Parts: sequence; structure tokens; C-alpha cells
Amino acid sequence: EKSVWTSEKVVLSPYKDIEIPKLTVDQYMFRNLDKWASKTALVCGQTNRSYTYEQVYKKSRVFAANLRKKFKIKDGDTIAVLLPNIPEYPIITFGILAAGGVVTTMNPIYTAYEIERQILLSDTSLIITNEDLVPTVKEALKLAKKELPIISLNMTQSLPEGTISYKELVEDNHADLSVLNEVKRSYNDVAFLPYSSGTTGLPKGVQLTNGNLVANCEQQNTEIRQYEYTTESHQDSTLAILPMFHSYGLSICMLHKLSVGLRLVTLPKFQPDMFLNALLVHRLQLLYLAPPMVLFLGSYPQVTAKHLEHVTCVTSGAAPLPSADIQRLFEKAERDIQFCQGYGLTETSPLVCVTRMGEKTHEQVGYALPNMSLRIVDADTKNLGPGEVGELVVKGPNVMKGYLKNPQANSEVFVDEDWLRTGDLAKIDETGLITISDRLKELIKVKGYQVPPAELENVLKEHPAVLDAAVIGVPDPVTGERPRGFVVFKPGVKATDTEIIEFVSKRVAPYKKIQQITFLNEIPKNPSGKILRKSLKEEFSK
Ligand code: AMP
Repeated sequence: EKSVWTSEKVVLSPYKDIEIPKLTVDQYMFRNLDKWASKTALVCGQTNRSYTYEQVYKKSRVFAANLRKKFKIKDGDTIAVLLPNIPEYPIITFGILAAGGVVTTMNPIYTAYEIERQILLSDTSLIITNEDLVPTVKEALKLAKKELPIISLNMTQSLPEGTISYKELVEDNHADLSVLNEVKRSYNDVAFLPYSSGTTGLPKGVQLTNGNLVANCEQQNTEIRQYEYTTESHQDSTLAILPMFHSYGLSICMLHKLSVGLRLVTLPKFQPDMFLNALLVHRLQLLYLAPPMVLFLGSYPQVTAKHLEHVTCVTSGAAPLPSADIQRLFEKAERDIQFCQGYGLTETSPLVCVTRMGEKTHEQVGYALPNMSLRIVDADTKNLGPGEVGELVVKGPNVMKGYLKNPQANSEVFVDEDWLRTGDLAKIDETGLITISDRLKELIKVKGYQVPPAELENVLKEHPAVLDAAVIGVPDPVTGERPRGFVVFKPGVKATDTEIIEFVSKRVAPYKKIQQITFLNEIPKNPSGKILRKSLKEEFSK
């Protein structure tokens, strides 16, 4: 047993270091293809449309060749994916990577304003979406004053005007795959560009390299492994309900689980009947959920032990989970199921730590993954010792390269060169067991989704009557938190709270909506102009 605390108060992972293969994500995904080529990789939980591993591989290669040939995609070009979870999602992402591109993922319920911003920030050169979302994408392009090609998945209706059919690009028997030999992407190149607000401010492009994601997959194939190996006669199934645009759904549910040959059942959104039906029909062993879904399983009367009959392990992450919700889940299952809690962030690809199968420490988030080191620091980034609460700072092969074109944000988020500040308060005991105590950063999390207050404050300030604004998160029993807004009017003008709430609603995705506005004479700020969110929280959080 190695001691996890060093004399410098650095916490090393209790697991032994592993070797990370120097591959790109698309190479890594298919390195074991011959072991499970004919097994099902993906099934749509709504329509039963499915693909084998071999089909995923071949279609992604054909798609990649067409991206190079027909759209002149070059190494390092950014391509946006704006889609709900569907079985084609991985085919598209592996295709983009095999074509040399970088994948920037967007929430399919974003408004045109939100899409516009990410198109501009990420310098997107092509957008892949579905027929339902094409009108919003067109509106976003108009706002961005850009003309970009749109590839549309036309599953049901006819192809929307001005778009190119996805089907034609993957079902092409004449694609010249030799163009893919021109692609020169390596381990250290950026593969994914999800957006996160990090510890402060507006959403920023998180540059995750091939190596970051391959590392985070390999780190899960160790003592913390939750799946049974796929063999001739056995294949575990998991539910891909967490959105693939977010790091948890993308890396843990999609990339990692496909890299080890599991069967993924995709669901486009959380809808109780569809979710429960998928549990009954698909005999799912592994469930990766966000806290509101754990609450649903444990507490809603329509859920029975039958729904959890095949489940071996439920993992929750993305936001804090009340322990009562875990207990209710155990009671509902009426049998021994494993519960694991993971913690991570987009910037760490995302998993930092997770409880081991069989561990009974449900409120903690387990131990650091192999190859990771942690520190708990005070306000002056001085290391603290066992049991002391401070900011968690982490280092490892899964830590992002940095925010895209944002030296200011990078200098704030990295300390001592390559240690990443998480913006979370935590403590670590003598054995290395981690407890997340609170969030230090301003980020609000609604159902595990990011709601950056700075983004809502900017939207509020676009209202003609608003002089100044502030947004904080207040506790909510179902969604974890919800945003609450504070507004100062310009002299001589006024608006009602309903008008302002509606103004915001039109511009942001539904989970970011502000439900309550308070009018103030002044937003409390420190001398350098930073909003004093803490004092707003203390006064208004009840
Ligand atoms: P994201 O980048 O959207 O994945 O958000 C990361 C943030 O979510 C972390 O910095 C934490 O504040 C929060 N978070 C993730 N997992 C947990 C967890 N298990 N418990 C508490 N907070 C969590």
C-alpha cells in the first residue's frame, strides 16, 4: 500500500500508474474491432435503429472520406455537431476525427443566439444537425453573418432546403478512402472542443486532445472498472441518456463504453416513459445518470424493482447528489446494486475520481484515478493537509491542453504550470478518499447542466431598461439549483419582471431560464468591480 500523501502535501493516486497508448481517439476506438466487429454497438431506444461495431467503423470512414473530398476539410478544421443522442452521433464524431477535424459539440436545445456564439468562438467551418434543428441553425448563421455548409440527418422528412444529406455521405459505395492517408493527426492534437465556463466568466472552448480522452478511457479500465469484459457470449449494455454534447455523456458513456465493446442504447432526451421502457426492454447493466434521474428512479411511484432487475451499477455525477436519494434508490431496487459517485469536469475529460465497485462510501467521490495527483490549497495556493477544506487542484494526462485562444483564462485556471484549478471546495482524508464540500466558482448547475451566471448577466444587460444585473444559483429540490436574477434599471425607465423573464427566455435554452427577478438600486460589488455573489446568496438564497 503506497502512502498517498507526499511530504509536500500532494495526494498521489492510490492506484498504480498505467501506460497510455499513443493513439488518436478514432484509432483507439477501433483498435480491438476484430474482437467484437459483428456485435451491436448502438441501438436507438426510441426506434430500435441499430449499428454493429463494423458498421460504425466503416460508415465513419466513408463519412470521413467525403468530408475531406466534398467539403475540403483539412487537418484541424472545426466541425460543429448539434444533435440529440442518436446512434449516428458516434459515427459522425469518429468520421470527423478520421477526417482530421476537431469536433465542437453543442446542446441541441440551444437557441440561435447560443449557437451563433459558439460558431464564432470556435471558428466552425461546417455544421452537422438534423432536420428539426435546421431552421435554428440557419437563424444562427444569419446572426453570425456566415454561410457554412449544413449536413442534415433527414430520418423522416425530406431534406431541408440548402442542406446536404448525411445519408448520401455515409451510404456511398464509391468513396475514395485513400484520402484519409493524408490525415496527419496525433496524440497531442486537439480532438474535441466542448464549451465550459470553467471557474469564471463566459463559456470557453475546452481543448481536449486525443491523448486526454484516450487517457481518461484507459484510466477507467483499471481497479475502478465497472463493466464485464465483452466476449463471444457476453456483452454488457448501458444507457446513453446523458447528453453526448457534454463531457460526461461524450467521454464516459460514449467513448469509453464503445472502446471496450459494450452495447449502447441511446435516448434523445429524458422522458419518464421512454426511460422506463428502455430499462424494461433492453436489460441494461450499467446506468450513468445525473442527480435528478437518480431522484426519479428512487422516488417516483411508477418506478418498480422490475425496472432495476438487470442493473448492476448506477453511477451519478455532474452535480452533488443528496444521500437520501441514494438510499431511496437502494430501497426501490429491493436487491443489492452497486452505487458509484464520480466527480469531474469538462476540463479533465472529465473523470477525476469515482468510488470503486463495492465501496460503501456513497457520499464521497472515491479516489484519484491512476496517473493523477491532487492538491487541496488555500486562497494563496498553499497546500493543505488531510481533512482540511480548500480548493481542489488536479494534474494528470486527462487535463485539457487549455482554453482556445484565451491566454487570460488559461493563466487564471492553471497554477504552477500544469495544475488545474477546479473551482470546487473539497477535502481528502489520510487514505486519499475525496469529499466535495461546495462549489467555489460562480457556475450554476441545473440538472447537471452548466448555467454560467456571466452569460445570463450579459443577456439581462441587453434589455433596453436594464443598467446592471447579477445572477446567482439558489437551491432547488429537483434540479439542484436554479438561477435567480437581480436587476438595476436605467434612470427613468422600468420594465416588469415578466417582461424581463420573457426577454431572457427567448435567448437561452430552457434550463437556463430565470424564474425570479429582484429589482435592486445597486448590484453589490467589490472595489475592483467584481459582483459580490456571496453576499447576494446570503441575503436571497432562502
Ligand atoms: P462540467 O464541466 O459541466 O462537467 O461541470 C463540472 C462541475 O460540476 C465540477 O467542477 C463540480 O462543480 C460539479 N460536479 C461534478 N461532479 C460532481 C459531484 N459528484 N459532486 C458535486 N459536484 C460535482
